[in-house]
Amino acid sequence: MMKRYDVVIIGGGLAGLASALKLADKRKKVLLLEAEPVLGGRTSNYQDNGMEVESGFHRMIGYYTAFPEMLRKAGIDLKEIFMWEKRMEVRLAEKEKTAKFGIAPLLGPYQALKGVIGNNRILSPLDKLSLIPFFTSGLKDYKKSPKQLDEISIADYAKKYGVTENAFQSLIVPLSSGLFFIGPKRYSAYAFFGLFAAGIPTIYKMRIGAFLGGMTDIMCNPIGKAIERKGGEIRTSCKVKKLTIDQNKRVNGVKLDNGNSIQADHVVLATTLHSAKQILASDFEDHPWFAPMLKLPVMPAVTFQLELTKRALPKDITTFGPGTALASFAEQSRTTFRHAHGRLSIILAEPEKFLDMEPEETLKIVLQDTKKLGMDLEKHLVDYRQINHHYDFHSLEPGNNWLRPEQNTPVDGLVLAGDYTMQPFFATMEGAVVSGNKAAEIILNQKAHKKTAIS
Ligand SMILES: Cc1cc2nc3c(=O)[nH]c(=O)nc-3n(C[C@H](O)[C@H](O)[C@H](O)COP(=O)(O)OP(=O)(O)OC[C@H]3O[C@@H](n4cnc5c(N)ncnc54)[C@H](O)[C@@H]3O)c2cc1C
Repeated sequence: MMKRYDVVIIGGGLAGLASALKLADKRKKVLLLEAEPVLGGRTSNYQDNGMEVESGFHRMIGYYTAFPEMLRKAGIDLKEIFMWEKRMEVRLAEKEKTAKFGIAPLLGPYQALKGVIGNNRILSPLDKLSLIPFFTSGLKDYKKSPKQLDEISIADYAKKYGVTENAFQSLIVPLSSGLFFIGPKRYSAYAFFGLFAAGIPTIYKMRIGAFLGGMTDIMCNPIGKAIERKGGEIRTSCKVKKLTIDQNKRVNGVKLDNGNSIQADHVVLATTLHSAKQILASDFEDHPWFAPMLKLPVMPAVTFQLELTKRALPKDITTFGPGTALASFAEQSRTTFRHAHGRLSIILAEPEKFLDMEPEETLKIVLQDTKKLGMDLEKHLVDYRQINHHYDFHSLEPGNNWLRPEQNTPVDGLVLAGDYTMQPFFATMEGAVVSGNKAAEIILNQKAHKKTAIS
């Protein structure tokens, strides 16, 4: 018997999974198609020639709401999958200095206060004072003049507000490179302050959490199972080539890479921006609504993961390494990769430098820089992998934010989702889930269309 779908969702990252879960929950007949063999997209873990790897190390932020809500809806016990950190660390190369910053003003007030009034070896009282007008004006401009704020880099904004050189190097550089892998000269001030602004209403919940296992295993597969329990279907290793369009210019399904077509009343395009552009190109290249989105540039990320015979760091906490290639890193053997004796996961900056580099070359730089940061890892090395995300992020450089599309498109039957679509959390797990939820709500609020069958 022919199967009929209300909604086909393209992409099994968090945006697609959120959409599928919400729609299946409302009894829509959904089919989720994922090009890769595993669910999760940028939050996946998988075997890479005998080594267990992850897309990159991730932190849950305590102020996220849509993301934990989705996990709960999928029947996941949050206590089982996160371990909360109450502080993060900045390590400075050569100077043998570290600064610890509390990140939970209400849940860990002592560490937070100590971080602000302590750390004088790294940040003098003058450095700290210089940050006050920077942060207060930035958060004000985020609300009052967002467009102007997106025209300026965070480096220029820091200069404008008199941030001292030392505060800039010790705090703004690690924050910008660590959060989105690009240095402050390329980082839009709007995107920088946006992530802080999004957390202000729920600042009392602020803390960050490490995952207690690979994210496909402990999160994405269980969400997939919940979708299936609600009657939805999931196909992995199933790549969509293009959308299919009927004579009324309505999107009525998808064409797969293997030549098959699947028809549906609605399609949620929940891939990365890069894939979405490819899927849309043939039919919507000249459509004015899609023009800004087709111009929105992408940016890469590169992660490097080391399996070790012993732990590289005494705690599994988020650490920044300004002045080195290690934008941010964490020991993971007590959290995400508990099978390992030692495991360091690193996000490299600037990613463009490493994309075309042989992993052996990258390893040399990583080992030199970990040494500068006080970790001598060479003799403990078991294995390593470099994971390149060539085109996975929309660019957070100045001037790009307003090219991001809304989820609702003017094309009948087509809705977008994905962290690059317009929502306040930029390229984060929360942003992906918010976009997926919005896409589902758009469909749920539309009148039902006539169902068609697989051709
Ligand atoms: C190294 C790294 C570190 C990060 N750290 C954090 C962090 O600490 N905290 C945080 O909140 N966020 C973090 N993020 C960001 C977060 O992972 C993403 O914002 C989020 O996962 C994006 O979800 P998505 O569903 O929009 O996209 P994706 O996860 O990219 O999902 C898109 C999916 O579409 C699939 N697809 C593409 N083309 C097709 C096709 N033609 N047919 C079928 N399927 C297709 C892809 O395979 C993919 O699975 C990090 C990301 C990376 C890479």
